[in-house]
Amino acid sequence: MKIFNSYTNQLEEFVSIHKNKVNMYVCGPTVYNYIHIGNARPVVFFDTVRRYFESQGYEVKYASNFTDVDDKIIQKAQEENESELVVSQKYIDAFLKDLKSLNCKIDYIQPKVTDYMNHIIKFIDELVAKDFAYKIDGDVYFRVDRISDYGVLSNRNIDDLISGSRVDINLKKESPLDFTLWKKTDVGINFESPFSLGRPGWHTECVAMIDDIFNEQIDIHGGGMDLQFPHHENEIAQSKALHNHSLARYWMHNGRLSFKNEKMSKSIGNVILVKDVEEKMPLRYFLLSTHYRSPLNYDEETMLMYIKEWQKLETAVKSLYFQLDLSKEFKENVEIKEKEIVDELNRFNEAMAEDFNTANAITSLQTMIKLINQSLRKKLDYNYLNQSLKTITHMINILGLKVDLVKLDDNDRDLYNMWQNARKEKNFEKADSIRKELSSKGIL
Ligand SMILES: [Zn+2]
Repeated sequence: MKIFNSYTNQLEEFVSIHKNKVNMYVCGPTVYNYIHIGNARPVVFFDTVRRYFESQGYEVKYASNFTDVDDKIIQKAQEENESELVVSQKYIDAFLKDLKSLNCKIDYIQPKVTDYMNHIIKFIDELVAKDFAYKIDGDVYFRVDRISDYGVLSNRNIDDLISGSRVDINLKKESPLDFTLWKKTDVGINFESPFSLGRPGWHTECVAMIDDIFNEQIDIHGGGMDLQFPHHENEIAQSKALHNHSLARYWMHNGRLSFKNEKMSKSIGNVILVKDVEEKMPLRYFLLSTHYRSPLNYDEETMLMYIKEWQKLETAVKSLYFQLDLSKEFKENVEIKEKEIVDELNRFNEAMAEDFNTANAITSLQTMIKLINQSLRKKLDYNYLNQSLKTITHMINILGLKVDLVKLDDNDRDLYNMWQNARKEKNFEKADSIRKELSSKGIL
């Protein structure tokens, strides 16, 4: 399979460091607020990456952090008259709830900065000991000019960066590009360290966590395109300083989500929070509808379209499933050999193997829906229906699109048959009351 590697700026064959294992890390949220749908894009996408690798038989070790020490959290804590820990825990809980509602797996490794303080301090201390960092008045800065190819990820060169950087008001730094590893402060939550009472800069936490969790170079490091510079560039610089490698073999970055072609931001007032979106599966469907590296534009009409597309998908899968269940024709281990189904399955798998082209994968999914609807209208071919169910289940599992299916018992089957009979007899009142009962059981 192929992955576009931001580090080399090209499409590359994916080869894992360890056979059948993928070690991956994705930069997580700073927990001072609810996440908006733009924040949900990397979360949903990298969950899909994980699901794809698992479907291919890889064992995936997936970690993503919580930044629970940050200026914004301190500010929020002061506003809400709470401790930083109370504030961050509140938004960690909210984040995981949002993830669950989007059907993202939440059984991944979730390091927090507050739990990693000793590691982070030790990491900075080593950088100082090796002369890659320097201490001034209790602050610690990374010496960027020690890294010869600094800027390689974001295609910038040091001279351009220096001439382009605004005159830095921080006169303590040797060079304007040097970034903060430790900041001396007595405002808000702070920690004892050999440097001063203070707190770490943002760029060290991910490297120190990866160091501890994986203890070697990882396969994939992911995050939003806006993290390439300076955050990921600085992660790479620190990793090169201490470990002489680029932290991850493949760097993956997703494009931004905009709202009516504008950046989603509080000041414009166009922020849509995940928790406020009622239709979570259509949202996931929409987030995967465009290739992850392309920008994605959200507006109400597009969302309505995906609500309809989702209903089509849900109806097709449920009708297929209940048709097989009611006729007791389920076949678990059916072999997929019907040509049009095999072709669609291949197209889906090829799309996913080509740098996770979920847009093309979804086209195959939608063709499958059409095939299912056609076959349900014709004289029923249970072998064909079983192959269809297996195929579409494979597709929706990888994309993480969850259709709630209920296992029917005999009462449910009777009820379902009564409903169909009532409809045939055009007894709409009766049909409607049975439909309500079936729907309250999650069957319709
Ligand atoms: Zn990070």
